[in-house]
Parts: sequence; C-alpha cells; structure tokens
Amino acid sequence: MMELGELKYEGKGKRLYSTDIPGELIQQFKNDATAFDGKKHDVIAGKGELNCAISSFFFEHLQAAGVHSHMIARVGSDTMRVHELKMIPVEVVVRNVAAGSICKRLGLDEGLPLERPLTELFYKSDPLGDPMINTEHAQLFGWASEREIVHMRQMARKVNTVLIDLLKSAGIQLIDFKLEFGHLGNDIVLGDEVTPDGCRLWDIDTGNRLDKDRFRRDLGGLSEAYTEVANRLHINLEYKG
Ligand code: UDP
Repeated sequence: MMELGELKYEGKGKRLYSTDIPGELIQQFKNDATAFDGKKHDVIAGKGELNCAISSFFFEHLQAAGVHSHMIARVGSDTMRVHELKMIPVEVVVRNVAAGSICKRLGLDEGLPLERPLTELFYKSDPLGDPMINTEHAQLFGWASEREIVHMRQMARKVNTVLIDLLKSAGIQLIDFKLEFGHLGNDIVLGDEVTPDGCRLWDIDTGNRLDKDRFRRDLGGLSEAYTEVANRLHINLEYKG
C-alpha cells in the first residue's frame, strides 16, 4: 500500500493527495459513478482499479506517440503518481460519431458518422453544468489564450488518432471523448484521465456500449464492460508493483 499524504482535492471520480516531492501528487481513482451533474450516483466495486489500469495504458501509448500527460507512473492498483498541473478550466470534447449532448443540441440521430472529427469546448463548472463555449469566451474570460486553444485542439486530434487505432485493433469504435489539460512549466499537457467514464466506446460489430452510458442509461454491467475493454486491449489488471 502506497503512503498517501494530505488530501488536496476530491472530485466526483478521483482524489489527489500530496506527496513528499513538491510538484508531484498521487491521483487515486474512486469507485464512485456519477452522471447528470452528480444527480445520479452509485458506487461500483472495482471501477477505480479498472479506470486506473485503462488510463495508465492510454497515457503510456500517448506518451510514446508524443502526447505528454501528467502521469509519471502507476504506483498502485488504483493510484498513479502525477505532476501537479495548473489546470485550464476548458474541457475539450472530440467527436467522431454523433451521440449524447450534440444529438439533443442539434437534433441529430445517435450514431450519425461525422465526416471529420469535431472538437468542442466546454467551460468546466459544476454549478453551471459545463456550458459549451467558443475560443472567444475562453480568451475574454481569461481561461485560455487563442494559441493555447489551438494547441489543445491539435493535441486532442492527435489523441483521437492514437486512440482510434488502439481501440480499432480491439474491435471497439471510438465515438467521442473528453480531455482536460493543464500547464506544466512552459508546456501544456494532458491531465485528468482517459477512461470509459469520459469516452463513448461501442463494439464495432454489435454496437454494444462499453462505457459510462451503461450507467447513465441503467443498462447494468458497467464493470463487466470496462473489464472487457481492458481485456481486449490486453491490459494486465493485476497490479504487481
Ligand atoms: N464527458 C465527460 N465529462 C463531462 C461531459 C462529457 O467525460 O463532464 C464525455 C462523455 O463521457 C462523452 C463525451 O465527453 O464521452 C461527450 O459528452 P457529451 O457532450 O455528449 O455529454 P453527455 O452526453 O455525457 O452529457
């Protein structure tokens, strides 16, 4: 068991603890599942470990492809050591196929393939329910400069191509996902997590949902679906240290 320092931050899906090294934190993945701005909540045994394993796997592959993240290393079954970032309060969503909020907003059918990947920006604010914004809002309110938004969108598109390829080899279609970024010195790197909590993943053949929509829509079998994603990607779920 890893020694955890002071709890610095607790979100819906993760906790961040201080460590004895300045600028480094421990990120712990919780078993809590939430949806609809936290109005729906449940605890799902094993989810924290699954998400930690899956996010570590994606961060390692992204690093190899030149996309840096806050992860330093996985250090426990549900914990990773990370760089402390100055978070940018703008979420970047990438969509390959219409699903979720864009269907409601624009009256699209779920499953409509998009001609090219679409990026969208949302202001990270729980009380406001993460409203959609554009680059001008981010600039005007000082959340990110135009250059930083361009850079985050570029990184998000690169993440998309890396994840599409990885998942395709596992028979999974990447529908959409959400990323968060932060400042690390003079760089902007990926923060937060890349897990089925923040992606839509459909079985290529059956369209079966292998992501958090199972929880949002009361389909059941969430941990079984996440385990399936991990197994198909040949992720070793036994953390041995
Ligand atoms: N997403 C997320 N956190 C959020 C909002 C969205 O992780 O606060 C993810 C979500 O899981 C999906 C993608 O971003 O993979 C696009 O979500 P969408 O805008 O369709 O909103 P939702 O349908 O989740 O309300």
